[in-house]
Amino acid sequence: MLLNVSELANIAGRFQNAMIKRMYDDIDDIDDSMVELNDEASYVCGSCGEDIVVPVDSSEGRQQQYVEDCPVCCCPNVIYVEIDEEGFPNVRSHLE
Ligand SMILES: [Zn+2]
Repeated sequence: MLLNVSELANIAGRFQNAMIKRMYDDIDDIDDSMVELNDEASYVCGSCGEDIVVPVDSSEGRQQQYVEDCPVCCCPNVIYVEIDEEGFPNVRSHLE
């Protein structure tokens, strides 16, 4: 099969577009995971020692406190959430 120059350029252009699209898809993935990092934090259950990931709603204020039953051992933990100046949540907990 013989291709002329414009057909070759066409194929090269399409290949390049696909590469660029893949790059942007990768960048999207990275952005998503960064957002998730900001919205989630974890505490260690005071009863069973499991690492429990909790969603953090920063619109609830810079300091939050609530009681959550551990999803692993069902012991109630008092959760303290503090959101620092950069928006990163720090979570502490102790048994109720
Ligand atoms: Zn537990």
